[in-house]
Amino acid sequence: MNIRIPFNKPYLTGKETAYIQEAVASGKISGDGLFTARCHRFFEQRYGFAKCLLTSSCTDALEMAAILLDIQPGDEVIAPSYTFVSTVNAFVLRGARIVFADSGAEHPNLDVSTVEALISPKTKAIIVVHYAGAACDMDAVMALAEKYRLWVIEDAAQAVESFYKGRPLGSIGHLAAFSFHETKNIISGEGGMLVINDSRFANRAEIIREKGTNRSQFFRGEVDKYGWVDIGSSFLPSDIIAAFLYAQLECLEDIQQKRLQLWQAYQEALQPLADAGKLQLPTLPPSASNNAHMFYVLCNNLEERSALIESLKAQGIWAVFHYLSLHRSPYYHSKHDGRPLPHCDRYADTLLRLPLFYELSQEGLGEVVHHIYQYYA
Ligand SMILES: *Cc1c(COP(=O)(O)O)cnc(C)c1O
Repeated sequence: MNIRIPFNKPYLTGKETAYIQEAVASGKISGDGLFTARCHRFFEQRYGFAKCLLTSSCTDALEMAAILLDIQPGDEVIAPSYTFVSTVNAFVLRGARIVFADSGAEHPNLDVSTVEALISPKTKAIIVVHYAGAACDMDAVMALAEKYRLWVIEDAAQAVESFYKGRPLGSIGHLAAFSFHETKNIISGEGGMLVINDSRFANRAEIIREKGTNRSQFFRGEVDKYGWVDIGSSFLPSDIIAAFLYAQLECLEDIQQKRLQLWQAYQEALQPLADAGKLQLPTLPPSASNNAHMFYVLCNNLEERSALIESLKAQGIWAVFHYLSLHRSPYYHSKHDGRPLPHCDRYADTLLRLPLFYELSQEGLGEVVHHIYQYYA
């Protein structure tokens, strides 16, 4: 089928290949080279993250988090059901049972007011997902974590350059995971990062990322030989990936400005349809900033959404739905405790993401809007 306006188009800033060549010319293209160090420094300086470690994906960063927190079979982890598989799969791999929380009535983020009732003596951690880059109510989450002595992991895959009460997302939980998959704001094809805000995890994180060896300490001259000291895997990306990522980071502000313009243009253009009750526009939770990761609308029901998708597709425009409720997934539904999570199911049925990418022109955006109006006419 003819795709005139795709859902996403990875944006290249222009410097990616030059930096990759530089990495290759340096003679060191495995992990933790020059560009990896530059990326770490960029994030640590810009957001005040205590320690950053690039990984091959956000999924890897979440798997590292589960190992770091020493999640054991039978431990319980509270997480939203309206999220990507990796948010919880990383913990299932260590044997955890996932206790799914519902989304809020106003926003797909987990409804923190429902979380306390889900805590049991087996609960070890709460994983929050900042959906569409919009912050969860982190004060409430951290207060619960303190009261019950739980770990908090921020799945900040979509949350680069976004804030909660002025604090960068990814800096609030004990650990946080970012993604640089080609569908995110800042990309390296595949890529991710673990942020370690609680310094107790810093040394072990390096070891887990380097196949369970203390290789990083060895290269800093802190030990005179390196060996196998813990479990781990190969979670670090090649410096070629980091070189690509660094080119993107240099253009972060430009990319964000462009995305925010597009986001606001959608919002303004679709407001009359929302006022007429045809669909709902996204709302920002209190204290959350907007990083323009995603522009979505909420249709009135599944049938309307399916028809709208088809109608846009017939015009060559690709708008896509998002998560299916994980508590009802083929893998987990029989393990779920049976509580209905109606808000999560509603977003699974009605949320529709519109094309949003750096090179989307005003005309392109205007066409998407025009055809949405046509559908509702
Ligand atoms: C994209 C995404 C992930 C996975 O990121 P990868 O880098 O592809 O592993 C995890 N969680 C959320 C919320 C995401 O949006």
